[in-house]
Amino acid sequence: MEPDIAIVGGGLLGRLLAWRSAIGGLRVVLYDANDRLGSEATAWVAGGMVTPQAEAVDAEPELVAMGRRSLALWPEWLPALPAPVHYSNSGTLLLWQRADAGEASRFESLLKARDPEAHYRRLNRAELAEREPALGNRFQEALYLPAEAHVDNRQLLPALADALDELGVECHWNRRVEDTERPDARIVIDCRGKSAKSRWKQLRGVRGELVRLHAPGVELRHMIRLLHPRYSIYLISRPGGNLVVGATAIESDDCSPVSVRGALELLSAAYAVLPELGEARIIELDCDCRPALPDNRPAIRYTPQAGLMEVNGLYRHGFLLSPAVVEEVLAILPRLLSNPGSELAESPRWPSLGARDEVLACH
Ligand SMILES: Cc1cc2nc3c(=O)[nH]c(=O)nc-3n(C[C@H](O)[C@H](O)[C@H](O)COP(=O)(O)OP(=O)(O)OC[C@H]3O[C@@H](n4cnc5c(N)ncnc54)[C@H](O)[C@@H]3O)c2cc1C
Repeated sequence: MEPDIAIVGGGLLGRLLAWRSAIGGLRVVLYDANDRLGSEATAWVAGGMVTPQAEAVDAEPELVAMGRRSLALWPEWLPALPAPVHYSNSGTLLLWQRADAGEASRFESLLKARDPEAHYRRLNRAELAEREPALGNRFQEALYLPAEAHVDNRQLLPALADALDELGVECHWNRRVEDTERPDARIVIDCRGKSAKSRWKQLRGVRGELVRLHAPGVELRHMIRLLHPRYSIYLISRPGGNLVVGATAIESDDCSPVSVRGALELLSAAYAVLPELGEARIIELDCDCRPALPDNRPAIRYTPQAGLMEVNGLYRHGFLLSPAVVEEVLAILPRLLSNPGSELAESPRWPSLGARDEVLACH
């Protein structure tokens, strides 16, 4: 029997969409050019942060609202996976060196202006030391954003693959689908991230570098972000004494290995925050390109003649936005499945996902 949907690209978005679609009763087939672990997906490299407030200073209110929706969905969805996935919602601490106090004031006023619902608190030195003992008394002040989380991307991707197996979803790992091919299904959904550039010309890469450390003596209770005019880095503890230090952001499609400059910037900023990291071991230096559209927002476009939906442009917000995007795709699909030749109606909950002519134009 013909599948309802064939998903091409089983990284973050494709896997999540396949899982939720199958739970919703659709017949799903998934194709991914790489392994079941997800080790070639951009999602494998990522930090896994779900930080709508910290992003609010740079992102439109609709994205922040989508981020809040995802923040509600992750803890609902993750416990249903067959393998445990570490998820922490203890919030973010924003730190700055004394000389960069202006960065903190700027951030605070932007946050107030752009996100009136933002819930945050300034902590003094003693409150900070109590909340995050690993920092000791090194910082005078911090901003605490409690409503933020992070998910362990490297546990998530294989757990989603297990969940697809449990649901009997036909998964074709290590199977590249070419632009000239159309897998058999009523609707094909292209979730190839940065690799969809051949079909979606406006896509570009934004290079990101990240370091993974083994630092068994250093355990952070919160995500840490450093506010700095040049190096805005974050640190996240992961199970097993590991720590992620990310990430550079460079306008480039070059996904080659981490540069010396990138590694130095990340490591020296991390060392300035936590000198104890001097004895940590570097276990990985990772680099990949975030898939971005010109306005750095995700988009859904649909070509009725081909029964082809494309969902892309998650940029640096894959974990922040994918649950909300998946929910939206699932709201759109029933009408298209009953008539694949119809136009995509306005995106029901997040209108801008499907209504930006310059980004959606197929040329
Ligand atoms: C350094 C770094 C840090 C990041 N940190 C964060 C963060 O903290 N929080 C956050 O929200 N986001 C973060 N991101 C962004 C996030 O990783 C991306 O937005 C997200 O992974 C994009 O998901 P995707 O499913 O579109 O693409 P991907 O995860 O790349 O998945 C695409 C999949 O398509 C498959 N594929 C490609 N071509 C084909 C083909 N022809 N046929 C079949 N399959 C194919 C690939 O194998 C891959 O599995 C970060 C990114 C980087 C680089």
